[in-house]
Amino acid sequence: MTTHGPADFAGQYITVAGLGVSGISAARALAGLGAHVTVVDGGDGDKQRAAARELTAEGISVRLGDGDTLPEGTELVVTSPGWKPDSPLFAAAAAAGVDVVGDVEIAWRLRGPGAAAWLGVTGTNGKTTTVRMLASILAAEGLRTLAVGNIGTPIIDVVLGQDKDGEPSYDVLAVELSSYQLHWAPSLRAHSGAVLNLAPDHLDWHGSMQAYAADKGRVYEGNTVACVYNAADKATEDLVREADVEEGCRAIGFTLGTPGPSQLGVVDGILVDRAFVENRQQQAQELAEVSDVTPPAPHNIANALAAAALARAFGVRPTAVRDGLRAFHPDAHRIQHVAERDGVTYIDDSKATNTHAAEASLAAYEHIVWIAGGLAKGATFDELVQKSAARLRGVVLIGADRALIAEALARHAPDVPVVDLDRTDTGAMPEAVREATRLAQPGDTVLLAPACASMDMFVNYNKRGDAFAEAVGELTARDH
Ligand code: ADP
Repeated sequence: MTTHGPADFAGQYITVAGLGVSGISAARALAGLGAHVTVVDGGDGDKQRAAARELTAEGISVRLGDGDTLPEGTELVVTSPGWKPDSPLFAAAAAAGVDVVGDVEIAWRLRGPGAAAWLGVTGTNGKTTTVRMLASILAAEGLRTLAVGNIGTPIIDVVLGQDKDGEPSYDVLAVELSSYQLHWAPSLRAHSGAVLNLAPDHLDWHGSMQAYAADKGRVYEGNTVACVYNAADKATEDLVREADVEEGCRAIGFTLGTPGPSQLGVVDGILVDRAFVENRQQQAQELAEVSDVTPPAPHNIANALAAAALARAFGVRPTAVRDGLRAFHPDAHRIQHVAERDGVTYIDDSKATNTHAAEASLAAYEHIVWIAGGLAKGATFDELVQKSAARLRGVVLIGADRALIAEALARHAPDVPVVDLDRTDTGAMPEAVREATRLAQPGDTVLLAPACASMDMFVNYNKRGDAFAEAVGELTARDH
């Protein structure tokens, strides 16, 4: 096994693709380690120029207006999220025999002796929730830990962090890994990994479902203790079978039903472990109650079981699983209760940016007025509409790709009233909420679960959810 460390990067000529949050963090970290860093970006606007001035003052070269050609002498290219694998810069790097890697790969290579173990979580949906549950459980065990990945401190900075004695700051990290990050992290070898579920998403980036699944499956490569899969999603189990793991590493399933040997599952409202017990043929260890998980929706219980499996693989005691789950509260915009008005409940699941996530939240309510639409990212909506049709009181469509959803509704739910707002401006949300309110009956749920990305109308899904909550707050008696 090759060992790596901060010294690897000293004196290297490194090109960082993209002057965004991730690129800037990577550039600073690598320059701090003595690398000669050039950041390239195709843009040349005010924002880029301001960032470029700051970095230049720190001794980092920046080239604006050309994100395609490889700077002379480049020995390594570091990508940023959003750069497609077929970007000309990467093709130029491949032609020159130069490696292209992402921030996760850099962070992994920066781990020195005594570095924190990584427990990796990927999947189409539930990653953030699961790593935060996992970190909560690990903390309840008394371990120094952090949930890292797409949120909070950039992973490179986390790995470089030290405590006051100069030792690594953490014992173990709960690492959220997107399919992009896994794609660009060839030498990552997590202690244990989990794929929560697999559904079509980001296919425009990966090119095909096979390529997307293969990137997700990389979370299992080189695992030493457990590859955690979803027993209800065969594709995740297939990925375990295909992975090259260390000897003795086990496949551990999670299920919402009664667990078999080497699985975690649910029996009579109790989360139980039949994997990390002495005699898994006959023994089951109680971990927590379903009511210890917030919210106790089925998909979230699945997230809790996956988090518990990774924690147990790391040797965490059952009581810490329970305490950690009890201490966990979900982030905003994930099936968030916004308000109740005149018997109608308003739920913000703006984070449902793909059909798989929307399906989970549509399954959680009985009578729904659904607000949907945005950027479809290559998805189709037939299956989602078919599965949810019986629950739909009405639908309000917004955003660029709303016609795709309208067509699926016409095919599979022709009797459901649909209001097509024909708007893609940020100000459309109040009208959407008013229309949804008009369609709703007492006892119904108005659910923002767009099944699409938000960037056609909003800066991000947070802003979309905020706009929804604000619009609900502005409803007047006349709207009902
Ligand atoms: P990610 O980090 O993978 O995007 P989040 O935890 O932020 O995942 O949740 C994203 C969306 O997916 C939310 O709308 C949430 O309600 C839904 N979701 C969470 N867990 C699951 C799951 N296990 N299966 C399906 N949908 C889920």
